[in-house]
Amino acid sequence: MKISAKNPALPFDFIFIGLGAANCLLLLRLHDNGLLTGKTIAIVEPDSKSANDRTFCFWATEDDVTNLHVKPLVSNSWDFVEIGGIAKQQINPLRYFHVKGIDIYNQTKSILSVNNVTFFNTLFKENPEVKSTYYEVRLANETLYGYKVFDSRPPIFLPPKKNQSHLYQSFYGLKIKLATKTFDTSVMVMMDFNVPQNNFTQFVYVLPFSEDTALIELTRFGTEKLTQQEATPILNEYIDRLGVSFDILEEERGVIPMSSSALKSEDFGTNWINMGARANMIKCSTGYAFHAMAEDAITQMEAIKNNVFPKRKMKGQRFAFYDRLLLKILDESPEYGKVIFETLFKKVPIVKVLRFLGEKTSLSEEIIIFSKLPKRIFITSAAKDILQQFYTLPVLALPFLFTIITLFLTLVNLQYISWGILGLGFLSVGLSHGALDHLTAKPIINKKQLLGFIIRYLFKAIVLGLVWLFYPDLALLLFIAYSAWHFGQADFKEWQLKQGWQSLCWGTIALMIILFSHFEELNLILLQIPNLEFVNTLKNLSDNIIWALNILFIVGGILLAVINKSKHILFTLTYLLLCSMLPLLLSFGIYFVGQHSLHGWRHLSLGLNESSSRLWLKSLPFSIGGALVILYFLLLSSSNYVGIFFIILSCLSIPHVFSMHHFYSKLKL
Ligand SMILES: Cc1cc2nc3c(=O)[nH]c(=O)nc-3n(C[C@H](O)[C@H](O)[C@H](O)COP(=O)(O)OP(=O)(O)OC[C@H]3O[C@@H](n4cnc5c(N)ncnc54)[C@H](O)[C@@H]3O)c2cc1C
Repeated sequence: MKISAKNPALPFDFIFIGLGAANCLLLLRLHDNGLLTGKTIAIVEPDSKSANDRTFCFWATEDDVTNLHVKPLVSNSWDFVEIGGIAKQQINPLRYFHVKGIDIYNQTKSILSVNNVTFFNTLFKENPEVKSTYYEVRLANETLYGYKVFDSRPPIFLPPKKNQSHLYQSFYGLKIKLATKTFDTSVMVMMDFNVPQNNFTQFVYVLPFSEDTALIELTRFGTEKLTQQEATPILNEYIDRLGVSFDILEEERGVIPMSSSALKSEDFGTNWINMGARANMIKCSTGYAFHAMAEDAITQMEAIKNNVFPKRKMKGQRFAFYDRLLLKILDESPEYGKVIFETLFKKVPIVKVLRFLGEKTSLSEEIIIFSKLPKRIFITSAAKDILQQFYTLPVLALPFLFTIITLFLTLVNLQYISWGILGLGFLSVGLSHGALDHLTAKPIINKKQLLGFIIRYLFKAIVLGLVWLFYPDLALLLFIAYSAWHFGQADFKEWQLKQGWQSLCWGTIALMIILFSHFEELNLILLQIPNLEFVNTLKNLSDNIIWALNILFIVGGILLAVINKSKHILFTLTYLLLCSMLPLLLSFGIYFVGQHSLHGWRHLSLGLNESSSRLWLKSLPFSIGGALVILYFLLLSSSNYVGIFFIILSCLSIPHVFSMHHFYSKLKL
């Protein structure tokens, strides 16, 4: 049957984007298992794949190579591994294997020739259109339709966080033929650091294919890529040490990302499967991926055979941590790279190092390995990593931990410590996040505009002050309503949930849980607000009604968490409930300072593209103004200062809520 690439009624069974190592290995496994028979296949690949553009090496046991079905691809292998001038050891039961890129491509092309395959020599650039049972893959000149897509386009890394690094493993190598037979063909040189480091971590890698031919490659781990100009004199000097004349047969160059930052993952549904480097198969600290890709090809093949979704093994957190530490050291102190690797291979048998790099060691073995390494470098790096992890914890971790600590301090009568911290928090981030409204409004470029801004700002506050004076009940309801709106808006923005009635519900629920779980205290505070009628209604509510209301708010919160699949909502509900064991003002303070103000602060810093310290300085005049206003009214009203505090807070808040609404409507996180 003739396949029409443009016919959505006849989608391809499989579309392979890229015909590199990962997709070739998968195609070979599918073919071996008869899973390509009768299937329609599209291959989108701009390159002819007719050059030996890379060599793939890996270490494994003979059994492993048989089980991975890659034996027919292997062109060389070595029993001994040498670390230049440091160690030369047999790596039994492992061997070091070599596969030529061209052999993988040619074997794949030969099996493709007997299957129903259409090639598209072009790049795939756009995101696919996800239809109910198939994908629409738009190319430059045509559109393909496919049920299952294996995507091996290059990976995209997210910007590294503070404890992550992005480096390159770059190399330039020469395949040479010596005038005399000189090489020992049983030994490959994995790392020889006896070359200039040039402020990077640089070593030579030697693969002797015969007694007179070898690939000799200079490799760099670093933030800058190695160039041919830099590599050539170093390589020539290295080869000259052999004391034999040579001819250059081929050259190899390449760059492998060494990144501990996360990959950008786009979810196009279960039948769109990322492959190879795009599926994070490259171990970031070594650049090796072949073994992992060969294993993954079997996983994918089995899934297709059994008509199930493939289950990939999760990457071990422990090894991700080690990789992160090593990359950070290589990034910030590249001069340590040589010392670390040389010490490692001097003190630990090579087989064990290879098992460690292959993520096959146990925790106790890893502790022994680390105990042999320069301790100060790793301990400093680990301490920094842990601190930075803490730093990058979600903002929510702070109020949660603060609640737990305050509960503990309450038990040992040291609650004043929490009051002190919250007081400082209120004066710094609490007041300050509201003292930046002049920056979120239209740009203010002269004194006249600043005066206009202040007058408008104060006008809103004074209007609410007048409402408090004449209609205190209405003012209280307004205060609760716009606070709920504003709290919900900030939280939903932070959690990247849709703003609207749900964010309003969430703000109301959070506020009501704080207030109604401290009902008696709430009444006492409201009693301090002059002329409130509302207090009488509240006072008469029975305990049962209060309980019912509390349960209603909690259930409402859980419902919102379920609807939005939000663990943040559940997390907040949990600590707010724990807060019911603390005084009302402390509970409110924990939410207001530890969650709301910190969220707001982060948003302002991002939206205004300013560092925290600069923002703080810019907020200072208005924060001091706000603090003085509060102080003035508190001193003036010695008896019911809590009530007065709330009235002033509400008046200062209303213009802030307006400003932030305007700011949030434009902010994209
Ligand atoms: C020079 C080099 C040497 C390496 N040596 C080793 C080694 O010895 N051992 C080891 O374990 N690992 C090694 N690696 C790492 C890893 O094994 C390879 O990067 C491996 O090729 C990754 O396989 P892949 O299929 O994900 O990507 P690739 O093999 O790079 O294949 C991706 C394919 O997709 C095509 N493509 C790209 N963009 C598009 C697009 N938009 N649309 C369609 N097609 C596209 C490319 O032309 C390419 O053919 C090496 C990497 C390099 C670069």
